[in-house]
Amino acid sequence: MSDRLDVVAGDLVVRDGRIVSVGAGAEREAGPVGTVIDAAGGYVLPGFVQTHLHLCQTLFRGWADDLPLLEWLRRRVWPLEAAHDPETLRAATRLACAELLRTGTTAVLTMETVHDTDVVLETLAGIGLRATVGKCMMDRLDPDVPRRLYEPAARAIEESLALARRWHGAAGGRLRVALAPRFAVSCTRDLLEATAAASAEQGLLVHTHASETRDEVAIVRAQSGFDNMAYLAATGLASPRLCAAHCVWVDEGEQALMAERGVRVLHCPGSNLKLGSGLAPVVELRARGISVSIGADGAACNNRLDMFDEMRLAATLQAVRHGPGRLTARDAVWMATREGARALGLDDQIGSLEPGKRADLILVDVRAPHLAPAPDPYSTLVYAARGTDVRLTVVDGRPLVEEGRLTWADPEEIAAEAREASRRLAARAGL
Ligand SMILES: [Zn+2]
Repeated sequence: MSDRLDVVAGDLVVRDGRIVSVGAGAEREAGPVGTVIDAAGGYVLPGFVQTHLHLCQTLFRGWADDLPLLEWLRRRVWPLEAAHDPETLRAATRLACAELLRTGTTAVLTMETVHDTDVVLETLAGIGLRATVGKCMMDRLDPDVPRRLYEPAARAIEESLALARRWHGAAGGRLRVALAPRFAVSCTRDLLEATAAASAEQGLLVHTHASETRDEVAIVRAQSGFDNMAYLAATGLASPRLCAAHCVWVDEGEQALMAERGVRVLHCPGSNLKLGSGLAPVVELRARGISVSIGADGAACNNRLDMFDEMRLAATLQAVRHGPGRLTARDAVWMATREGARALGLDDQIGSLEPGKRADLILVDVRAPHLAPAPDPYSTLVYAARGTDVRLTVVDGRPLVEEGRLTWADPEEIAAEAREASRRLAARAGL
């Protein structure tokens, strides 16, 4: 995934968590090496960067199906998020990491719930995934939102900044903190303005949802008098630090504004389909030079966290909108790696396999019959491969999946713990 999308045959050498050389003869050049991994019959590529996730919702998988966004939030997701405690958050984070790492995702941008986000970060610190984490902020009083998720704006910002003081740059830079106002519907203008100010002052990313459904856009217009993106711009949020999930319903004027301000779009095709939200104008956004990266969103609305599914959907949905070839397999792999790194402001560290970058990489085995004959690696990865074809996942030089197995936990234990935690959670949420 170099700028030229080169495909090279050869070796890749990692030392102290960084890539030191790549290509034919790389091993000879690098001098003596310790561990050697035989990657014959596979593709080594940069680990996937998922830019929109909610790790805490992984325990909600199967508890929130067949509903449109606003009902899905009111009837399922908000009550379940309000019912989380440190123990269930830990179980959700472990469950998410098991699936993400097993299917080749090495870095994420995630929006958690309102409380106890330290537990998510502590758990991530132990496991080894690269993550930018925000606690959700919601300060608009609303009878449909459980009282426990409400926080006054000043407290929401203070808690987020306290989280940043404890965790931003922790674990050798692997963990970072973002500011995460949920979406304009659940935030006051005061909170959005305070978020913009804190982001500018501290250089923190802002992670939010925007223009996911037509109903949401109508509510924002009624509340603020603005189109969603114009409203976010009016609060000072529209900048290259704004990572806006979905952007399905953004008109031409909003798209022009996003291009001008450098807003980053986080495309979630699987979630948009399952919630019936719509098909995002990804080809149009990219044609304007807007950064569009990819995320699975959450297990409550996808219900998979597998980047292979999302790459395939990203490409095929644009074929439905514009005809095949307007978003190619190469584009999809680019969005899943380089563009994700750029959205997170980490493109000097991850997103490609080049000397000097952090060793976040995966090995995809392409020897199985469902991948043959594989004349083009990009086509194979996007249209034929599945998450379970990932054999090795390495973050910061540490193997977290080897021979398709987690190195840091027993997956059956993680699943059992998740089933137990999800039962407690659903009972507390009254489901
Ligand atoms: Zn989301």
